[in-house]
Amino acid sequence: MIFHSTRDKSLTATLSQALQRGLAPDGGLYVPARFPAMTVADFDGRESLAAVAPRFLAPFFEGDPLAPELDAIVAEAFNFPVPIVPLKTVDDASVLELFHGPTSAFKDFGARFLAACMGRLTRGSTRTLTILVATSGDTGGAVAAAFHGRPGIEVVVLYPRGLVSPRQELQLTCWGGNVRSLSVAGTFDDCQRLVKAAFADPALAAQRELSSANSINVGRLLPQACYYVYASLEGFRRTGKKVNFIIPSGNLGNVLACVWARRVGLPIGELLLTFNANRTVPDYLANGDWQPRPSVATLASAMDVGNPSNMERLRYLHPQWQELAAAVSAVSISDEQIRQRIRTDDVALGEVWCPHTATAAEAYAQLAPARRAAGPWVLVSTAHPAKFPETVEPLIGRTLPVPPALARLLELPRQVTEVPATLEALAALLP
Ligand SMILES: *Cc1c(COP(=O)(O)O)cnc(C)c1O
Repeated sequence: MIFHSTRDKSLTATLSQALQRGLAPDGGLYVPARFPAMTVADFDGRESLAAVAPRFLAPFFEGDPLAPELDAIVAEAFNFPVPIVPLKTVDDASVLELFHGPTSAFKDFGARFLAACMGRLTRGSTRTLTILVATSGDTGGAVAAAFHGRPGIEVVVLYPRGLVSPRQELQLTCWGGNVRSLSVAGTFDDCQRLVKAAFADPALAAQRELSSANSINVGRLLPQACYYVYASLEGFRRTGKKVNFIIPSGNLGNVLACVWARRVGLPIGELLLTFNANRTVPDYLANGDWQPRPSVATLASAMDVGNPSNMERLRYLHPQWQELAAAVSAVSISDEQIRQRIRTDDVALGEVWCPHTATAAEAYAQLAPARRAAGPWVLVSTAHPAKFPETVEPLIGRTLPVPPALARLLELPRQVTEVPATLEALAALLP
């Protein structure tokens, strides 16, 4: 499979090259040159995530040096459970729990897969690879966890000071060794801008091998598509109907992964994207006017994105906004609705949502009855609620048990450097 830039089809790359570069040389994002066609029958006899993933990924890996390692990469990366939990609702609805990895958020899928690939690609290389990652809270921890201790790779994590949850911050700064954590005086958009600026700076790139682990990296989207393949097959085999997903969204990586899975032919129906008060995408879908804006802080902080990078991939697939508006729909959920939904569903459904997942639960509750009854709905649960105790615990009136993997990380000592949001400051700190 060949990949090319969203901005220039002549800028091609193999999968390995796209993984290592992160961003295309012209600043565009890598997309597959074609989408292979797949049917449900292609997955006959394959049920678990670990079984469907290699089948789905094989055409994307075809011809690449990593292809012979695909099974091993999948086995190494997806080594935790992915439950699909039925909801106690009248209509067919379930929760895809993506938070059982080491850092309790769905970012573990992409980060662990990317690390398994990069670890193989840098084997035997004498140059250190520096991975830059901007995080709104969860990506940085997942990437640090996945790459920590890997020889030949350094990780630099940039996060917005004061704008991540205390437990997220602990997870971002507990590593040391080959992981450096930078607390940036700015927003997530500033962090993302700095990473992009570092890539665009010829002097910086000449001195070291730079790569990115943000959701701009195609090596995160492909593994994320696998759980949509898995969940859509489960729902389709059970009901004979296409499966609709509700996806808490920020930078649109998770959405893109689902769009790609639907594009190749998996039985996926509606995609309902949920946003917090950062309304760039819902407003665009409503009026066709693309107006990126500074992000505002909300309870669902990992979704505080004003200028989502993966929009470029979405618009590449659907250049006309009417076409895009037909392919996906979106709602914006307020902090007050998030709070109310966490309280309500704890009592009504016995489910405790993280603030991000609560946006999906609220969107589900808002569906018109006919639409809700139209097919199985899957609410994508993006993080464990115990990552956000300061928000969730007062609403449900009790303490949440912390998953053991998370508890271990929270006990490690902190190592963090404070920096202003400038490229000079970042450059001075790069290994
Ligand atoms: C990253 C994140 C999101 C948003 O996902 P995108 O791929 O950036 O759209 C939602 N919820 C949680 C918990 C996250 O960490």
